[in-house]
Amino acid sequence: MSIKPATRISQVTPSMTLAISAKAKAMASSGLDVCSFSAGEPDFDTPTHIKVAAQRALDAGKTKYGPGLGEPRLRELIAHKLRTENQLNYTAENIMVTNGGKHSLFNLMMALVEPGDEVIIPAPYWLSYPEMVTLAGGTPVIVATDGSCKITAAQLRQAVTPKTKLFVLNSPSNPTGRVYTPSEVQALASVVIDMDLTVVSDEIYEKILYDDAVHQSIGSINGDVLSRTVISSGFAKAYSMTGWRVGYLAAPLDLIKAASKVQDHSTSNVCTFAQYGAIAALEGDQSCVEAMRFAFAQRRQVMLDRLNTLPGLTCPKPEGAFYLFPNIQETGMNSLDFCNALLEEQQVAVIPGIAFGTDSHIRLSYATDLPTIEKGMDRLEKFIYSRQ
Ligand code: GLU
Repeated sequence: MSIKPATRISQVTPSMTLAISAKAKAMASSGLDVCSFSAGEPDFDTPTHIKVAAQRALDAGKTKYGPGLGEPRLRELIAHKLRTENQLNYTAENIMVTNGGKHSLFNLMMALVEPGDEVIIPAPYWLSYPEMVTLAGGTPVIVATDGSCKITAAQLRQAVTPKTKLFVLNSPSNPTGRVYTPSEVQALASVVIDMDLTVVSDEIYEKILYDDAVHQSIGSINGDVLSRTVISSGFAKAYSMTGWRVGYLAAPLDLIKAASKVQDHSTSNVCTFAQYGAIAALEGDQSCVEAMRFAFAQRRQVMLDRLNTLPGLTCPKPEGAFYLFPNIQETGMNSLDFCNALLEEQQVAVIPGIAFGTDSHIRLSYATDLPTIEKGMDRLEKFIYSRQ
């Protein structure tokens, strides 16, 4: 007898970022020399002071259930960070600590989206957004963007219908690395007000910016926008804490109360001693964040320069995050065939653009060391020339 899963499960696809990175890791542990540019996971170890704080918390017996919304000190610190760095007028009451940024988005979708509700998602998008909307019973409305990969105010306005519940904004973007300028954010905020929308701003990459790019949170435009804004973020990318699973949702109080019901009945609190690591991350010296950002900037340049010498590939210079998103259309391959063949023939793992809503691109994460980047680019070059 086979046990039949719920229909909602057949409506979603498995996470390709997780599947391909797991495959690359498995190939590597079976002895193959794999260059993985798959998951967006910084290669750096978590900074020592953060690990020490969690170890101390463990030794001090911080091993019990904690408040579902998070450790009070951590909620205070997150609210303080959002007030002082992002001009978002939150207090600790507006914060829910979650099991990573992904979980904060999932809690939000479950708390907000009803069957029939539409959620506007600009493409290219991070692959879990539409699937979370579907799991919550809603309908993802994918809006294709132009070469800038950013939704314009006019496109957003046009996508709104009476069923629109939420607009998903992600800057810096995964998978494109593009960053919305303050005036673009301002224009989108005007549509949010005019069309009476709620916006969730996924700001997980806000610390990873290059050149003169700036991150402006949409909720900072004014109080009216803030009352319609939800912020999703976490510690994984900026502090290299991917496996810790600590993120947060910031929102008006009623929505936090609603989302906390989802969390209380599904996971309860986030791992107590991991939250002490996050406290140390916010209280401690921020030079570790800058050191990692500096390394990413170098890697971005090396990978970009190599990519743009390859026939058939074109890649703009992204302003943030740690991804390159080249167009591969001129190679004549679709993104899945390209990625499968590259992994098979050259043991280089990248993610097909189709997972992010465009079949003419691939995504490469450069959150890995320079020798791996150089070796992977040598192999990619061989792959491309083998098809000329
Ligand atoms: N967010 C990262 C990525 O896009 C990690 C994998 C995932 O959660 O999808 O690669």
